[in-house]
Amino acid sequence: MLKTEDIIIIGAGPAGCATSLFLSKAGIPHTIIEKSTFPRDKVCGDALSGKVVYVLKQLNPAFLDKLSNQPQSFLPSWGVKFVAPNGKSIDIPFKSDTSKETHAPGFISKRINFDAELFSWLDKNYADIKLGTSLNSIEKTNQGLVLNLENKDGSFQIKHPKLVIGAEGDRSIVAKNLSDIRKENDHYCAGIRAYYSGVEGLHDQNFIELHFLEEMLPGYFWIFPLPNGEANIGAGILSSAASKKKVNLKKDMLEAIANNPNIKERFKNAQLKGKIEGWGLPLGSKQRIISGENFLLTGDAASLIDPFTGEGIGNAMYSGMLAAQHIQNCIKENRFDAEFNKSYDKAFYDRQWDELKLSHTMQKLVKYPWLFNFVVNKAHKNKALRETISCMFEDLDLRAKLRNPLFYIKLLIND
Ligand SMILES: Cc1cc2nc3c(=O)[nH]c(=O)nc-3n(C[C@H](O)[C@H](O)[C@H](O)COP(=O)(O)OP(=O)(O)OC[C@H]3O[C@@H](n4cnc5c(N)ncnc54)[C@H](O)[C@@H]3O)c2cc1C
Repeated sequence: MLKTEDIIIIGAGPAGCATSLFLSKAGIPHTIIEKSTFPRDKVCGDALSGKVVYVLKQLNPAFLDKLSNQPQSFLPSWGVKFVAPNGKSIDIPFKSDTSKETHAPGFISKRINFDAELFSWLDKNYADIKLGTSLNSIEKTNQGLVLNLENKDGSFQIKHPKLVIGAEGDRSIVAKNLSDIRKENDHYCAGIRAYYSGVEGLHDQNFIELHFLEEMLPGYFWIFPLPNGEANIGAGILSSAASKKKVNLKKDMLEAIANNPNIKERFKNAQLKGKIEGWGLPLGSKQRIISGENFLLTGDAASLIDPFTGEGIGNAMYSGMLAAQHIQNCIKENRFDAEFNKSYDKAFYDRQWDELKLSHTMQKLVKYPWLFNFVVNKAHKNKALRETISCMFEDLDLRAKLRNPLFYIKLLIND
């Protein structure tokens, strides 16, 4: 008989909540440990991609109705605008055919609202929820793992759980104490986020906007509309490029808002709300070992963020879903060892590596602004090309075209 302390999830962000929700759906008791209480903020662009929508549908389609029914917190989004360094842009809908869609293919929601909503769906019949409790360290002993925890009443230990799921984000103690994953500047992004009101010229279908501004390359700037007339404004850059070019991201972002000819007019009546805050993005541009003896890593703890778009919530929830599926197999076979857990890594990378690899290629293309300008110029003039790029969002084989030099040669010839 499994005890709640046999399966321990550390962190109740998107990765931890998804793991917990899928375990509960399978009737598996577990403990979830979270250092904060909800609602709590997380520095993010706040865009919930199609993959988040997909995972929620697998959990319970009624969850999507709940988001759609709270327009004050969840803004439906239908596409993305890419703005090339030369200022030209293309609008790419997330879905080529929306006639059969009952919900928007994406949403934008402040994380303070989205994470609190996810957390409120946890099922206390199966999840023993310990809030205000931090994992400080993990020891490996001959009998198994020992977790050193702390809450307002002091320190305590949990001894020898069968499985620990690291879902505590970028600064994961589970990853640091038990895995070989370390921060690597070529596979890590620095990011900042600000909230503004009164930004003008937002898309009427709430397209998110990614701007590849000449002065910020290879970094990028975003404008994501939010409910209640607000917008999430931010910028990100690969850490290796930031240290090489000695970039001050906050200064560069404020300068772009004040002076960039394509941006400044839109901010002339805008107001910064609160502080500009920063946080890291551990990218999935490299395959890592994301499990071991008695542990699995999910979400940012496993470095799974899309290296081109910076989206990490989708992969956090997707890895949580796969972790819960793997845990069912562990229980069935009574195996929680490193060898058995390798099938979790395989399940994740078999499904997601092609997409992460392509995004890594696209991240590298941003180093060539002329190529970016060229593709966007062409797409600006050519409806068929715009539709092809739109379909690339749904079809990975089509997206693979972007890695093929022939794609660009054909563009050059077909003027
Ligand atoms: C500037 C920026 C912009 C971004 N924009 C987007 C975007 O628009 N869309 C998108 O999809 N992704 C975006 N991301 C990435 C996204 O924020 C992360 O990928 C996502 O939050 C990962 O979810 P997670 O559950 O793995 O970790 P987190 O969301 O970090 O959750 C971890 C949880 O664990 C808790 N915790 C931490 N340490 C401990 C501990 N020791 N003990 C107990 N609990 C602990 C935390 O309190 C938290 O609740 C962005 C990231 C940044 C930095």
